[in-house]
Amino acid sequence: MFNKLLGKFSKDLGIDLGTKNTLVYTNEKGIVINEPSVVAVNVRTEEILAVGDEAQKMVGRTPGHIQAIKPLVDGVISDFEVTEKMLKYFIDKVHSESFTLIPRPRVVIGIPLDITEVEKKAVEDAAKSAGARQVYLIEESMAAAIGARLPVADPTANMIVDIGGGTTEISVISLGGVVAWKTLRQAGNALDNNITQYIREEFNILIGEQVAESIKIKIGSATPLKEPMEMEVRGRDLINGLPRAVTINDSQVREAIQKTINQIIENIKITLETTPPELVSDIYEHGIVLAGGGALLRGIDKEIAQATKIPVRIADDPLTCVVRGTGMLLADDELLSKVLSPGAEEM
Ligand code: ADP
Ligand code: MG
Repeated sequence: MFNKLLGKFSKDLGIDLGTKNTLVYTNEKGIVINEPSVVAVNVRTEEILAVGDEAQKMVGRTPGHIQAIKPLVDGVISDFEVTEKMLKYFIDKVHSESFTLIPRPRVVIGIPLDITEVEKKAVEDAAKSAGARQVYLIEESMAAAIGARLPVADPTANMIVDIGGGTTEISVISLGGVVAWKTLRQAGNALDNNITQYIREEFNILIGEQVAESIKIKIGSATPLKEPMEMEVRGRDLINGLPRAVTINDSQVREAIQKTINQIIENIKITLETTPPELVSDIYEHGIVLAGGGALLRGIDKEIAQATKIPVRIADDPLTCVVRGTGMLLADDELLSKVLSPGAEEM
């Protein structure tokens, strides 16, 4: 009862703690934070210099004693302390923007499927020490499915494939739970690395990670394009160490990223094979839904549909699916209690 009352006044938060981006949602204002999951730390003093957008600007540009840390590199929390500080920074940022005195918020946080109990506890502790009154952990793929408006509590199966920065999570959801899933550490970052490697091997040029990502976003595709595309890329010539520019086209990029795309598809097939037949037939009927930034790669939907013979649709605004799902849960206690991550009862 008291909690209900507090809930009315506090600014409850939905958080998507992604490997690439962290988003925060309030029911009042929608998405209030959407920044890279990066923290710049002075390694001499351990002082935090910048978080999010500000820290991202420093990636690849830091002097020796400043490190731009990505605390969630592989979809798991690789650096707990920094994750906690990052969370606290974002939560404080949301609250400092309001002038009234607000009680501590309830927080719904999306977590990866392959997280251990210890890691769950770590996320919960991080949110609590960042000021949360109550923490609800929910699987990111469940949140993504809710954000994509799939009927997750119904007795019918839906498949959601969330292609993020560090991981791709493939899951089958039915009756408010994840009934089959697979997660692989091959997603957006792997595509970027494929492109970096290709350019090194083909042109003897070393490019930075942000350049690789921009090539993927500007001209990357999983299936041949109607209109060919190309772009000029600058990097360092590995032979003489000097800057050099080359032109790369969409078909070269496709060749570079092919193996990661194939692995994602292979794992979707494996997940379907381990899913009970009734559920597979539901999935054939409803199609596969793609979420996460990787869903925006040109033609990825077509490529997956062709390989699996199942219709594929991209969720609306796939980059914000998870956080919108956590936001919808803040406003729906009944659904929240149905879909809480197992073993993560109200904490
Ligand atoms: P995470 O949940 O791990 O933080 P996101 O769902 O935010 O990841 O997705 C980030 C990934 O999506 C990055 O690898 C980024 O490069 C990729 N991405 C974003 N926009 C596009 C686009 N238009 N085309 C292809 N990939 C994209
Ligand atoms: Mg994500």
